[in-house]
Amino acid sequence: MNHSDELKVFRDNDADLSFLEGKKIAVIGYGKQGRAQALNLRDSGASVHVASIRDSSAENAEKDGFDVVPIEGCAATADIFLMLIPDEVQRDVYENCLANELQAGQALCFAHGYNYHFGLIKPAPEIDVFMVAPRMVGAIVREYYKKGTGAPAYVALGQDGSGRGHGTMLAVAKGIGATRAGVIETTFEQETVLDLFMEQAFFPVFSQAFLTAFDVLKDAGFDPRMLALEMYGSGEVAEIMKAAADLGYLQQLVVLHSRTSQYGTLSRTPGAYSETTKTRMKEALENIRNGGFAKEWADEEKAGYPVFNKLVEGIKTHPLTTAENGLHDLIDLRQ
Ligand code: NDP
Repeated sequence: MNHSDELKVFRDNDADLSFLEGKKIAVIGYGKQGRAQALNLRDSGASVHVASIRDSSAENAEKDGFDVVPIEGCAATADIFLMLIPDEVQRDVYENCLANELQAGQALCFAHGYNYHFGLIKPAPEIDVFMVAPRMVGAIVREYYKKGTGAPAYVALGQDGSGRGHGTMLAVAKGIGATRAGVIETTFEQETVLDLFMEQAFFPVFSQAFLTAFDVLKDAGFDPRMLALEMYGSGEVAEIMKAAADLGYLQQLVVLHSRTSQYGTLSRTPGAYSETTKTRMKEALENIRNGGFAKEWADEEKAGYPVFNKLVEGIKTHPLTTAENGLHDLIDLRQ
C-alpha cells in the first residue's frame, strides 16, 4: 500500500483473493457494471451467480453461463452481494428483498455511494458494507480485465460487522481487476460528492460551452452540421481527452497541438469563465453536501419525474440534436 500525502492506494499485492474463498457472490443486476464485474470475478476464481428480474439481462447472464436466481429470496443464496441495479431502484429492492433477510457475516457492496451515504439504505450494524466504485464504464472494466490491465476504482468501508470487511472489499476490487491499476481508499461521502459535483457543476459548464459556441456560430451563419462535426462529432475532442488521461491535460496541448492552437488556447483560457461560474460551482457543492440535491431528487421521484421527463424530452427537438442527425446523414462517423 502507498501512502502518498495521506491518500491510501492499494494494488494487487495488497489485496488477498483468499477472502473470497468458500464465499458465494451474488451480483444483483446484470447491466453495464453487473455483467463486467460478474465475468471478471468469475475469471478471478470466485463463485458468482446473478440475481435478476426476469428480463433480457437475466437472459444475457444465462447466455454467459451464470445461474440466475430471482432477486426476491436471493439473500439466502450468497455471502457477498454486489448491488449493481440502477441507484434509484436500489432502496426499494433493498427494503423488499434484503433488509430483513441479511445476517451477520454477510456483506453488501455498492459501486456508488449515494444510497448509503444519504441514509436511503441503512443495513444493520452487523452487516459489512463497502464500496468498490470503478471510475470507468462497465464495457471497459471488462475489456481492460481481459487484456490483463484494470480500471481504477475508489474503495470505502462503511461498516465492518465481521471484522473482515476491509479484506473482503480489497478482494472484490482485485477480483474485478481494479487493483491492477490501483484503488484509492476514500469514504462513501467523498465518492458521492465528487460524482455528483462532476454531474451538477462540471458537466453543465462543459455542456453550456458546447451550446453557447453552437449558438454564437450558428447566428454567425455557420452550418449547424459543421458545428456538430467541429465540436465533437469527428471524435477529435474524445481523442484529446484520451491523450489528457495519458499525458496530462495541459501537457497534451504541447505534445499534440500546433503552436497556433497552443497559443490560442493558453492565452484565452484565463477569464474564459467568470467568477459567477465559480460561485455557482461552490453553491452546487454545498447543495450536494447538505443533502439539498438528494431531497430535490427524492421529491422529483415521488412526483413521477415531471421535471426530469420534460428535460429529457427537450433533447429530441433541440437544434443541436437536429444538427447531429443531419451530420450523421452526411458523413459516416462511426469507426
Ligand atoms: P444499469 O442501468 O446497466 O442496470 C443494471 C441492471 O439493473 C440491469 O440488469 C437492469 O435490467 C436492472 N434493473 C433495472 N431496473 C430494475 C428494477 N426495478 N429492479 C431490478 N432490476 C432492475 O446499471 P449500471 O450498471 O449503470 O449501474 C449499476 C451501479 O453501478 C449503480 O450504482 C451505478 O451508479 C454504478 N456505476 C455505474 C457505472 C457505469 O459506467 N454505468 C460506473 C461506476 C459505477 P434491465 O436491463 O432489464 O433494465
